[in-house]
Amino acid sequence: WHITGGIGKLSEALETRCRELGVKIYLNKKVAKINTSANCATGITLENGEVITSDLVVANADSEIVYNNLIEPSVKSAKPERRKLKKASKSLAGFSLLLGLDNSKGTAVQLQHHNVYFPNNYDAEFDQIFDKQVPVSDPTIYICAPNDKTMVKGENKEAWFVLVNAPRHDPENGWDWRNGAQEYASAIVKKLDQLGLNVSQRLDYMEYRTPLDLQNYAMAPGGSIYGTSSNSAQSAFLRARNRSKVKNLYCVGGSAHPGGGLPLVGISADIVAEIIGKA
Ligand SMILES: Cc1cc2nc3c(=O)[nH]c(=O)nc-3n(C[C@H](O)[C@H](O)[C@H](O)COP(=O)(O)OP(=O)(O)OC[C@H]3O[C@@H](n4cnc5c(N)ncnc54)[C@H](O)[C@@H]3O)c2cc1C
Repeated sequence: WHITGGIGKLSEALETRCRELGVKIYLNKKVAKINTSANCATGITLENGEVITSDLVVANADSEIVYNNLIEPSVKSAKPERRKLKKASKSLAGFSLLLGLDNSKGTAVQLQHHNVYFPNNYDAEFDQIFDKQVPVSDPTIYICAPNDKTMVKGENKEAWFVLVNAPRHDPENGWDWRNGAQEYASAIVKKLDQLGLNVSQRLDYMEYRTPLDLQNYAMAPGGSIYGTSSNSAQSAFLRARNRSKVKNLYCVGGSAHPGGGLPLVGISADIVAEIIGKA
């Protein structure tokens, strides 16, 4: 299924509903600290120093940020989660392109809404991501090509979202995404051409986002798309609990139970809403 106007419309609908219910939303305010007293969450402190006290804190930030940065190291009840975080491995990251195509410049190619192009050697992709920690030379390419007039600038235009798996931004031990991003974006466009998708000729607009961009705008450590990885049988038990051992603190989002991806993230919120109950 597809939401007319794209996935951003879901955020707008949620915002509207929250405001109808009287929720006060603070935008562009970074949380610097989750305040605690006697192992119990008591509110938050914003980066500008403003303190907001509350009965409960529901944290949607990555659990690594919640437990390692936002809660004081001395809070004993946070220790079990910190131990789990040490054992867990982060999920892979993604390199994405936002492409605007103009079909008056070249022949259009009919695509489905979801399209996946697999490489010849699928194993080599994951060796490059997890072992060599380098951008994938022949990646699996996912293209979302919505047939949605509200998402294009006019007649004969298309707007594609293109995603390839990528190593995390890890300048110390792996790949540093400050390097080579433009060249990598161009290489993907070339690969799309080789797949017969006639992109270069029709290219009207291109934006790309690296794992480092993802880290910067969504505060996802290293640009990991799915929080902690699902690579081992143990993974499910290493995600942050929805009801934290820090009393009155609840964790939702991709790094909390049951995991990453919008449906599971929604389930984490539903679980927490059930636990907290109606006001
Ligand atoms: C390119 C890409 C494509 C994807 N495609 C799909 C898909 O097709 N289907 C799917 O199901 N999932 C997809 N995902 C995964 C999905 O987007 C994530 O699993 C989901 O968004 C995670 O939700 P979240 O609430 O945990 O984190 P986010 O959506 O990242 O939200 C966390 C929020 O917390 C804020 N934050 C963090 N720290 C602080 C702080 N200290 N103070 C204030 N705010 C803070 C961040 O700014 C951010 O807004 C994709 C992800 C990416 C990156």
